[in-house]
Amino acid sequence: MLQVSPRRKVYDVCIIGSGAGGGTAAKVLTEGGLSAVMLEAGPRLNPVKDFKEHVWPFQLPHRGVGEGGRLRGFLSEFMAPNGYWEVPGEPYTTAPGSSFAWFRSRIEGGRTNHWGRIALRFGPADFKPHSTDGVGDDWPITYEELAPYYDKVESYIGVFGSKENVPNAPDGVFLPPPKPRCTETLVKKACDRLNITCIPSRLAILTKSLNDRGACHYCGQCGRGCMSASNFSSSQVMIPPAASTGRFTMITGAMAREIVLGSDGKAEAVSYIDKATNSEQRVYARAVIVAASSCESARLLLNSRSSTFSAGLANSSGVVGRYLTDSVGSRLVGQFPQLEKVPPHNHDGVGGMHMYMPWWLFGKKNDFLRGYHIEMGGGRDMPGVGQFTRVCEEHEGYGVRLKQACRRDYGTHIGFSGRGEMIPNEDSFCEIDPSVKDQWGIPVLRFHWKWGENDLKMSDHMQATFRSIIETAGGTVVNFQPRTPPAASSGATAEQGRQQPQSGGRISTGGEIIHELGTVRMGDNPKKSAVNRWCQAHDVKNVFVADAAPFVSNPDKNPTLTIMALSWRTSEYLLDQVKKGGI
Ligand SMILES: Cc1cc2nc3c(=O)[nH]c(=O)nc-3n(C[C@H](O)[C@H](O)[C@H](O)COP(=O)(O)OP(=O)(O)OC[C@H]3O[C@@H](n4cnc5c(N)ncnc54)[C@H](O)[C@@H]3O)c2cc1C
Ligand code: SF4
Repeated sequence: MLQVSPRRKVYDVCIIGSGAGGGTAAKVLTEGGLSAVMLEAGPRLNPVKDFKEHVWPFQLPHRGVGEGGRLRGFLSEFMAPNGYWEVPGEPYTTAPGSSFAWFRSRIEGGRTNHWGRIALRFGPADFKPHSTDGVGDDWPITYEELAPYYDKVESYIGVFGSKENVPNAPDGVFLPPPKPRCTETLVKKACDRLNITCIPSRLAILTKSLNDRGACHYCGQCGRGCMSASNFSSSQVMIPPAASTGRFTMITGAMAREIVLGSDGKAEAVSYIDKATNSEQRVYARAVIVAASSCESARLLLNSRSSTFSAGLANSSGVVGRYLTDSVGSRLVGQFPQLEKVPPHNHDGVGGMHMYMPWWLFGKKNDFLRGYHIEMGGGRDMPGVGQFTRVCEEHEGYGVRLKQACRRDYGTHIGFSGRGEMIPNEDSFCEIDPSVKDQWGIPVLRFHWKWGENDLKMSDHMQATFRSIIETAGGTVVNFQPRTPPAASSGATAEQGRQQPQSGGRISTGGEIIHELGTVRMGDNPKKSAVNRWCQAHDVKNVFVADAAPFVSNPDKNPTLTIMALSWRTSEYLLDQVKKGGI
């Protein structure tokens, strides 16, 4: 008997990944009238159940770190869930002689549930590195072209900061910044003496209510999530407006494995693993937005091979996976005896720094190219699990004397972290590992990594600067590598900083700063780039990339605000193309 198959549903767009890039695209495209299906490898997020920012260690068995303390840091029951340095069943490999750390999240909202919320605009010179100093490549777009989208993102998500006119660190649409705390005032005074610019930080946290989200109540626990959605996560800020249009469908537990081409040479579907049943499924769409995070997006394109594109989709230039960079990272911790005597006081604030140091030597002659900014952390925020492990190691005994030592030590350290621009090099890239596959049989990435001479010189400069700030502020450099460094890395809270791979030396491990990007670079020349100035694949016009993979360089500003601004711009372009019948 003739079988009549039901007509398959074709969405206007399929978005892969629900993080910063995917969430922004979902909001803009659905509000613009398109129907969208989102494939997200992780589960839905339930803030009330999953976020534990107000739970105390003593309220959980083993104080939340599992038997024997196995679950410290990101894995502890206190942190925002499903963020890992090692994802179970989803390995990656590194080439001989290379080290690379890859932090991934598998949950609605991706790493925007975990990030430090540092939200800095790139500056005009950041888009034109080659024109500025003759090294690397210029972006095909200018700061002026992206500025209106920075305005839209900041106005919608809420970023606090202050107007400062710092060269190449543009001001934005800011909410008022919180006041500096005791430790930040101490550092600011030292910076003033050293002529290092130290200004209110710029974080995506609400100091005033905005768009039905309540203002921050200064519990200082952002890395553990925020039930009141006072800080930015895609899951709480971008996905809800998309869902409320009625044109949005999210399929969770859906690991995209390949973009499938139709007979017209355009993408027509995405095949994915339904993790609940381990079966392969397909969704059909007129356009595909890849936003699985830079390296996952490169992996997906490289794994989407066909007779037309044997080296992977959108890869006729051969650049997919190339130009991988992370921020140059280095850190140093100081101990400040004067803080031992500070009477108990209210140290409340947001879960991140209230002050930071933008690159203060822009335009000056230095012995390395480009620059870095400095993040800081420390003081008397809520003690986390394991905070006093080192004190306990240093002071024999127990009881009153040990408690006194802990009290004396508590809040007296300040950590400094540099985040600098790495210049892309030929030895740093990712590719498909020829033999290793993940639990569903999808080939995994193999990373190659090498810091360049410029990166190493920059990290030496960071170390010298941190030391001079610490000593000018009356502290001493802490020479041990504390197991519980108070310095936050990449804006992560001190608690998060603990669980990062510890390079402990001159420069971070590649990937450690969690600003890995550049693997599907944009450009006007299809022979040298994978996507055009709209982040649209040169080879397949209905495929777009909306995360940090298209970035041409990795300036000293953390990337996520720029991911959202670019994704917003790409989405508006797609809406316009659909209207004109171009897609
Ligand atoms: C602790 C920490 C601190 C950070 N601090 C800062 C900071 O202060 N400022 C800053 O700018 N940046 C910071 N970052 C980086 C920031 O989180 C990322 O730049 C940003 O989240 C990247 O957004 P994305 O959309 O590219 O990817 P992600 O946010 O990683 O989201 C990708 C999503 O895609 C899903 N996915 C992956 N592969 C597939 C697949 N094949 N199929 C379906 N779904 C898939 C994942 O499950 C995930 O949900 C920090 C990150 C961490 C972890
Ligand atoms: S510090 Fe503010 S934004 Fe962060 S978790 Fe607490 S209330 Fe939320």
